[in-house]
Amino acid sequence: MKIAVIGTGYVGLVTGTCLAETGNDVICVDINEAKVKKMQDGEVPIYEPGLDLLFHRNIAQGRLIFTTDLAMAIKESKVIFMALPTPPGGDGAADLSYILGAAKDISNLVTEYKIIINKSTVPVGTADKVKAVFTANTDIEVDVVSNPEFLREGVAVEDFMKPDRVVIGTRSEKAKKVLTDLYGPYVRQGNPILFMDERSSELTKYAANSFLATKITFMNEVANLCELVGADVDAVRKGVGSDDRIGKRFLFPGIGYGGSCFPKDVQALVKAADENNYDFQILKSVMEINEKQKTILVDKVLKYYKNDIKGKHFALWGLAFKPETDDVREAPALYIIDALVKEGATVTVFDPEGMENVKNMIGDKVEFAADQYSALNNADALLIATEWSVFRNPDFDKIDILLKNKVVFDGRNLYDLEKMIDMGYYYNSIGRKLVE
Ligand code: NAD
Repeated sequence: MKIAVIGTGYVGLVTGTCLAETGNDVICVDINEAKVKKMQDGEVPIYEPGLDLLFHRNIAQGRLIFTTDLAMAIKESKVIFMALPTPPGGDGAADLSYILGAAKDISNLVTEYKIIINKSTVPVGTADKVKAVFTANTDIEVDVVSNPEFLREGVAVEDFMKPDRVVIGTRSEKAKKVLTDLYGPYVRQGNPILFMDERSSELTKYAANSFLATKITFMNEVANLCELVGADVDAVRKGVGSDDRIGKRFLFPGIGYGGSCFPKDVQALVKAADENNYDFQILKSVMEINEKQKTILVDKVLKYYKNDIKGKHFALWGLAFKPETDDVREAPALYIIDALVKEGATVTVFDPEGMENVKNMIGDKVEFAADQYSALNNADALLIATEWSVFRNPDFDKIDILLKNKVVFDGRNLYDLEKMIDMGYYYNSIGRKLVE
């Protein structure tokens, strides 16, 4: 199949590459010229495990190309995916300007039937708005389909190649047929392609992300309570998660959800509910609680230093909002840095993949270490914000030598409490006994 993918971010690039992998001819379009040049030169612009192999293979075999030339891409393709940003607008609602702007550009270029597929996370009614743009600009027939993406950064290739489900919102039989063929290779094991109307499909994505954000937030509150009543959240988590109705996943407490999706999607769903005179109370609480949880580690630090961290120096391990990605959008680590610096402390950070992106955002605020151990030099304490595997089993002898004091604030519960007691640490984690 001849396919265009508009937008080559975390979703678009993975989508384009994985669609090429099953034999389709894919043209990826982006307005960012530097990014397109990089990809044309064979460089993967994001860190995503497993992506480089597929990227290089499909470029080499001529099935995957990159361009800024939208007209060429539209002319050559029957199926056009939009994987464009939908950031929060000033009022919290999703900003649809990228989607509607691209729709307008595409509508001025089509000369024959096309299927326009929206992969971005968008509010209910967006497919209708996109369709209206086409109707206003051209007589050419197009089908506008909602096909939200559920991939997770860090395992995006695996998620795309073997999705739990594919959700497709369309009432067009023609589009259904094409998409059944297109997605067939990815659901061979029997996972479903769920066809529904456009509005239900659009809402499915927001509901899924908001439910997951709620699950995390619920467990964060349980963890906070554990600390007050002397319970251990790890034990509670296992006890709760063994119930099939609840499940083991997404129950790990921490320092709040972040990333480019959950915060904006929860906010957008609340806003959409408000616009329809529905007060989505549970999600409003989720947002409020998460806001506090993002800096809970700083509260612990301040309590330990009796509210005075002026002149203190901290090492921070982890910047990415979760492991196995370089994405630092809305990462709790950024809020922690901000709060520590505001209180007069200095911070040296290390992250296996997220440092470049943080340098571009707040490079002047922190020092960047070459590796996890040199970040500890002369630091009063170590803070942990991301559960990268490489932080799970560190060389504590080295840590002892480098850190000024044996003090660790762990936002991801990486270490065994008994071990930290044996080694003589002050160890403050989430929802567990304070080791002092
Ligand atoms: P991103 O910011 O990583 O990428 C967007 C890309 O679109 C950028 O490369 C940008 O240069 C390009 N772009 C902007 N305007 C353009 C235009 N007019 N023409 C061509 N290219 C243009 O975004 P993302 O993380 O891939 O997310 C895209 C959408 O998918 C969002 O709606 C997001 O909510 C949703 N989503 C994201 C994830 C995720 O894990 N990142 C998962 C599921 C769904």
